[in-house]
Formats: sequence, C-alpha cells, structure tokens
Amino acid sequence: MAIFDRLKNYIGLVPNPITEKTRQAHARIKGASVAISVCPYCAVGCSQLIYSKDGKIIDIEGNYESPINGGTLCPKGAATYNLIHSPYRVTTVKYRAPYSDHWEDRPLDWAMERIAQLTKQTRDAEFETCDTEGRRVNRTLAIGHLGGATLDNEENYLIKKLFTAGLGIVAVENQARI
Ligand code: SF4
Repeated sequence: MAIFDRLKNYIGLVPNPITEKTRQAHARIKGASVAISVCPYCAVGCSQLIYSKDGKIIDIEGNYESPINGGTLCPKGAATYNLIHSPYRVTTVKYRAPYSDHWEDRPLDWAMERIAQLTKQTRDAEFETCDTEGRRVNRTLAIGHLGGATLDNEENYLIKKLFTAGLGIVAVENQARI
C-alpha cells in the first residue's frame, strides 16, 4: 500500500506529457462532407472519397469500401487533389504559332473558333467516301483526337459520337477508357 501511495504521488508530480494543443488536434477531414467518386485517371476505376468543407474540396482519399481498391490509390490517383488546387495547373489556352519557339496565351473563344475552322477545312479537303478498293468508308484520316484522362464518361461519349460517327474521324484515342 505504501508503494502504491508513493507511486500515486510520483505520477501526480510528473507533468502531463500530452499538451493541450495535442489534445485539440484532429484529422483535417473532421466535420467535412464526403462524396463518393471515381478516380479520373485510368480504367481501373478506383473509388475515391472527396472531402469538402464550406464548398471547397479539402482532401481526396481512396474509398476503403470499394472492392476495387480497398482504400488505396496509386501515386497518380493519390495526387488527384492537385487537379483542383495545384498552382502549377495551366488554366489558360496556350497557342504556339507555326515555326514559333514560344507559347502565347489566347482567349478560349479564339481557340474554339480556330479549331472549328481548321477541322472543317481539313475534313472538306481530305474526306474519303470510298477506299482504294471501292468500299464505302466515309472517313478522314487527316484529323485525330487525343483525349486527356480527366475527361469524364459523358464527355468521352460525346467525343466519340461527334468525331467518329459525325465527322468520320478514325483516330480517336484517350489515355483513360473509363
Ligand atoms: S490511376 Fe491509379 S488510383 Fe486512379 S484508377 Fe488508375 S490505378 Fe486507380
């Protein structure tokens, strides 16, 4: 008993090793809203949890309830947060004129108009109704489309519809195929 009392006294003298700041610390996602989403980068289709506070995304993690990724994300998927918040993201249209050695900022409307005009001009000049053996092909091999991994399902559907069925472009490719 004497030893127990002495031990109690000793413990009472030791300053609490946990500071108030540590006691108040909590995960940054505490109190955040969470939405379930899909990693935009590749066809594996890992599920993600998107955390937000005050309308702003604050964190993106793997969804531990997903049978595909079980809470994990590869390095690319784990960096999805930077799709939204990285200061290095290019947010303006970049144009490099023929034979130029540098990029210039151009308005989006200007770029859209230029792409539309060049697409029509090239398609009109290069459209093939039949191939060399007389088979109907209704295509142009002079234009290609390469999509980025962050295009979503709906955008990819429209791209495929417009460029393949609509314009006869054969070379439609995308890094991701979700
Ligand atoms: S990029 Fe990585 S995290 Fe994203 S779906 Fe593919 S494997 Fe999963």
